Amino acid sequence: MNKVDQTLARRGLLLVLTAPSGCGKSTITRAIMKDDPDIVVSISATTRDPRPGEKDGEDYLFMSTGDFRSKVGTGDFLEWAEVFGRFYGTPKAPVEEAIKSGKDVFFDIDWQGARQLRQNAPDDLVWICILPPNKQSLEDRLRARGQDSEDVISRRMLEAESEASHWRDADYVVINDDLDKAISQVRSILQAARLKRVRRVGLEEFVAQM
Ligand code: 5GP
Repeated sequence: MNKVDQTLARRGLLLVLTAPSGCGKSTITRAIMKDDPDIVVSISATTRDPRPGEKDGEDYLFMSTGDFRSKVGTGDFLEWAEVFGRFYGTPKAPVEEAIKSGKDVFFDIDWQGARQLRQNAPDDLVWICILPPNKQSLEDRLRARGQDSEDVISRRMLEAESEASHWRDADYVVINDDLDKAISQVRSILQAARLKRVRRVGLEEFVAQM
């Protein structure tokens, strides 16, 4: 971005990366977020119990099922889902505040959540699906992780195939057969999306005094 780009007001975007587990999504995400002060992470609400080390307000907003349901009723979530019998949702207000102030919001949600964002915020969503170069590389990564039984590995492979099958819903697809290349492709997508005319609310003023 040049100096003028950096000072022009713009509306932030909603960035979603979906991927079957074992595709390098966390590594790509870390690389993208590092040194980019314009991306904030959406903190989801959940009704599940905190795991050791998890902090309320940092990892999740932990709440009771009653509170969660009442927030669903008042339309406080941009999207929500039931996962493994627990509720998860994206509080709407902080996201709206962030994008208005020109920050992009990163979401760690699955394709079901992303589909709801597509419905509820179609103009702001940038959805990138990461795919592996082949099935074998996914299986190799799952095996390399630890001592999972064959049953667990087979189940994870099925889950991974199901997640991958939703690539058609995404705006962009990046095939991760070379990590550095995949990271630079995600960066390019983000950069182009930020430059979209409709996001650049400061253009009218800029052009008027140009
Ligand atoms: P965990 O309980 O392991 O932190 O997360 C379980 C699942 O819930 C993950 O697949 C995660 O992507 C999903 N999840 C976390 N937050 C949200 C959210 O706000 N909305 C949706 N739809 N899914 C979420």
